[in-house]
Amino acid sequence: MKYTTEFRNSEIAQALLTRIRQGSRKKVRFMEFCGGHTVAIFRYGIRQLLPKNIEMISGPGCPVCVTATADIDKAIALSQIKGVIVTTYGDMLKIPGSRSSLQKARADGADVRMVYSTLDALQIAKENPTKSVAFLGIGFETTAPTVAASIIEAQEQEIKNYFVLSQNKLSPPAIKAILQSGEIKLDGLICPGHVSAITGSRVWDFIARDHKIPCVVAGFEPVDILQCINMLVNQVEAKLSKVEIAYGRGVIPQGNQIALNIMSQVYEPANARWRGFGVIPGSGLKIRKAYRNYDAEVRFEIKTKPAAEPKGCLCGEVLRGVNTPLDCKLFGKVCNPETPVGPCMVSSEGTCSAYFLYGDEFER
Ligand code: SF4
Repeated sequence: MKYTTEFRNSEIAQALLTRIRQGSRKKVRFMEFCGGHTVAIFRYGIRQLLPKNIEMISGPGCPVCVTATADIDKAIALSQIKGVIVTTYGDMLKIPGSRSSLQKARADGADVRMVYSTLDALQIAKENPTKSVAFLGIGFETTAPTVAASIIEAQEQEIKNYFVLSQNKLSPPAIKAILQSGEIKLDGLICPGHVSAITGSRVWDFIARDHKIPCVVAGFEPVDILQCINMLVNQVEAKLSKVEIAYGRGVIPQGNQIALNIMSQVYEPANARWRGFGVIPGSGLKIRKAYRNYDAEVRFEIKTKPAAEPKGCLCGEVLRGVNTPLDCKLFGKVCNPETPVGPCMVSSEGTCSAYFLYGDEFER
C-alpha cells in the first residue's frame, strides 16, 4: 500500500536505528505530544530498540484523556435533558465522569449515540426534527475544523435542532504550560503529525526559539518515528534547536489555510479546563456569537455537581509527563482495559492503555 509499506520497511528502519545508535551520545529525554505517537512507539517496540541514553516520555496528546472530569459530567448532564440526543465518538462513551459515564447514562435510558463523523450527527438531527441533537466537540486542531464545518453546514441547510458542546482544544498552549511549569526537563519534542497538518509546523516555533528545545513533526509509521528521533538526536548533538518536518507527505509550515479559516470563522480562543493541568489560558475553542444558535452551552441550561476525580488515579500526572503509568498503584491491578479507573486506560490513545497492551515492564 502506497505511503504505508515503505514507511514500515525494516531495512530503512534498521539503517535509521544504526544512525541513532551511532550518533546519540548525550543522555536525552524526548516527549511525544500525541497519543497516536505513544501507541505507535509502543506497538512497534521502538522504545526497546533505542539506546539506553534516550528516554521517551508521553505527553498530553490524547484528546479524550485531557477532557476534564467536570466536562464529562457536563456531557452526561446534557444527555439527561428531555428531548436531547447526545452524539459522540466511541472513545468518549466509556470515559468515567464523577458519578457515571455516557455509556452508563445510555444504559439508564439516555439517548446517547456513537457517530463516526459530524455528518452522521447532522443526519440524526435531520431525521429527528422534534428532538435536539448535541454533538460533543472533542479533540485538538485535527477535528476542530470538521466540527466547525458542521455548524456552518447546519446553518446553510437551516437545520435548527443541531448543537455543539464545544470542548475542542488547542495543542500549543498545553505544551507551553508543560514547559513553563518547570516540572520536567525536555531535550526534544516529537510534534503531532495530524495536528500539524492543520496548524502547520510554524506553531511550534516558540518551543525552539524561546525554550531552545529541538522539535520535529512526525508521522505515525515506524520509519516516520525513527526518522524523527534521528533528526532530534542530530539537533541535540549539534546544539541546535529548530523546527523540522519528518512528515513531508502530510505537513507544510503554513498548514491548511482552508481548515484554519473555517476554525476561525466559527470559534474564538477561550480558556479551557484540562485534566491534570487545570485551566490553560487560550487553549479552548468557544463558538462565536454569530453561531450562538448552535452552541449547546447557550441553548441548554446544563447543571452539574462539583466534579470528583477517580481516587488513586495519576492520569493528570501521566498527562503532564511527570509520572508514568508504572508509578500508579492501580495500574494493571485494579485498573486495566476491562475495568478502567481513569481515562488514560480507557482511550485507545491513552498512555496507560499503551503501557498495558504493549509495555514489557510488568506481569499481566
Ligand atoms: Fe489512572 Fe488507571 Fe492510569 Fe492509574 S493506571 S493513572 S488509575 S488510568
